[in-house]
Amino acid sequence: MKELPAIEGGVPVREKKIYYGHQYLDEADYEAVLDLLKSGDDLTCGPRIRALEEKLCRITGAKYAVAVSNGTAALHVACLAAGIGPGDEVITTPITFAASANCALYCGARPVFADIDEKTYNIDPESVRSHVTARTKAVVAVDYTGQSAKLDELLAICRQNGLLLLTDGAHSIGTKYKGRPTGSIADMTTFSFHPVKTVTAGEGGAVLTNDPTLYEKLLLYRSHGITRNPQWMEKEPDGPWYYEQVDLGYNYRMSDIQAALVLSQLDKLERFKARRKEITARYDAAFSAMEQLIVQEEIPESDTARHLYILRIRPEKLQIDRRGFFDALGAENICCNVHYIPVYYFPYYRKLGYEKGLCPKAEKLYEEILTLPLYYAMSDQDVEDVICAVKKVAAYYAV
Ligand SMILES: *Cc1c(COP(=O)(O)O)cnc(C)c1O
Repeated sequence: MKELPAIEGGVPVREKKIYYGHQYLDEADYEAVLDLLKSGDDLTCGPRIRALEEKLCRITGAKYAVAVSNGTAALHVACLAAGIGPGDEVITTPITFAASANCALYCGARPVFADIDEKTYNIDPESVRSHVTARTKAVVAVDYTGQSAKLDELLAICRQNGLLLLTDGAHSIGTKYKGRPTGSIADMTTFSFHPVKTVTAGEGGAVLTNDPTLYEKLLLYRSHGITRNPQWMEKEPDGPWYYEQVDLGYNYRMSDIQAALVLSQLDKLERFKARRKEITARYDAAFSAMEQLIVQEEIPESDTARHLYILRIRPEKLQIDRRGFFDALGAENICCNVHYIPVYYFPYYRKLGYEKGLCPKAEKLYEEILTLPLYYAMSDQDVEDVICAVKKVAAYYAV
């Protein structure tokens, strides 16, 4: 890469740095947490957890919801409930946070990476189909950036091959697929309430399902493999105190303090979604007109509550590569990020035998993307600054 001069004038588009994501909390959120603390209600396994699970069912249309300590725990209990174990294979995408694949490893199974669709960047059902073997047990699709994966196509492949479809919906709370909310369609859907996500509990997560048996198993694995349900016990109860550990589970419970916060956050979900859509539309309009840039395409089936805004560059139309673009935006005080490094690039995965070249479209995407700021609390001026900086850098370094 040849040395390029700093952008002429040297004045950044904005003085104050802006980051790619940030939580939005208001008075109602503070009060919700304080109310709980003052109420004397249980701080765990209490009424806020039940209220959260009911609310998630109402929002998504799923029959059952299980609140857990974070999105990674949600993926882990979902894999356990799916019966995934040693010798099994789980198909997922490399363009995701590591947890979407790690959950298979936790269970002793092997993640298998299917390639992405080069336009939407979501897992490609045809690639999934080509990776199904006799050992495949489940597919973990990811609603990358909030856009729904192609659920009908994936469900068809899963039904034909006796697989369970899990969706990592860490990005997609509020999204609808063919008019139905994420959370009600796959066999299980997981959410994350980490502070960068659309709604936050500080840390938190949930699993949604319509299947009563999966629901019972999720409850079991969330809490040590212990049950108080006589139906699941091997012995007659010794007395009212009696419970049994019938499998090896974990303590993946969420506290009611976290539940109180995310309950209040969920009241703002429609506002959050609308603002995120608005910002996404403005970015798309500005960038689709520039030949140096590519915007993520959406399938018409997805009504997307966008969590991440991915800007893709066309390196052949620019004198700089992604790193150069990232640094140039940084010099404008637009602090980007990159989502994601293909999971199998990590040293841990390399030691397990995964090699570069598995998913060529995902690998090419990774070379060309950066994540622009996108969050509810961005002002119109912030959005204009980001657009102005991207246009400035793209135009300046155009070939
Ligand atoms: C954030 C995230 C997770 C993990 O969620 P945590 O709540 O941080 O454990 C899993 N998958 C994806 C795609 C994510 O973005």
